[in-house]
Amino acid sequence: TTFADLGLADTLLRALETSGYQHPTPIQAQAIPEVLKGGDLLAAAQTGTGKTAGFTLPILQRLSTSDAPQAGNGRPRCLVLTPTRELAAQVHESVKTYGRNLKMRSMTIFGGVNMNPQIKALRDRMDIVVATPGRLLDHANQKTIDLSGVEILVLDEADRMLDMGFIRDIKKLIAMMPKNRQNLMFSATFSDEIRKLANGLLNNPAEIDI
Ligand code: AMP
Repeated sequence: TTFADLGLADTLLRALETSGYQHPTPIQAQAIPEVLKGGDLLAAAQTGTGKTAGFTLPILQRLSTSDAPQAGNGRPRCLVLTPTRELAAQVHESVKTYGRNLKMRSMTIFGGVNMNPQIKALRDRMDIVVATPGRLLDHANQKTIDLSGVEILVLDEADRMLDMGFIRDIKKLIAMMPKNRQNLMFSATFSDEIRKLANGLLNNPAEIDI
């Protein structure tokens, strides 16, 4: 299998060339076509499997081939939630690398740093936000970010987010999003709590277990 076989467009294939990947990893081969179809996804995947490219590539393609009804400032179309700032930064790097040929605006939001630069950045158009739940909720409560335009939600390393006690924040954030959206959930482990979250969040998801 090649990345082109998976349905990725030329703009993304060109960006991928600079990464030097020869072939999709197993999770990429399964996740990319599913995400491109627009349905929900539940994936059992550890770090190191290539899961980040597995969701960022098809998300970039979906966002670039459809326009937001109301693209707006501080009103992202895609939200990726991660347990840590390190992971948020890593996902954001992938978004920038693979989206290099697209006019997509993205940023990270995490705690432990001054809010003002984040608030300032959110005054601009922002297509993709990669965030940790606590600080994102602060912004949402202060109305410096508007989650009513979220078309795609990703929970990355969902098990770690639950372990870190983010479940309440995540539920509050989800309540601010439109009901009609695509949800992708990645988790290394599947406890009862993760299953419960998946059941409440995902709509008839494709399941990937590698
Ligand atoms: P991840 O599991 O998303 O954290 O990715 C783990 C590592 O695998 C990262 O350093 C990626 O750059 C690398 N990687 C992702 N996809 C591929 C691929 N198709 N071929 C080779 N390396 C890859």
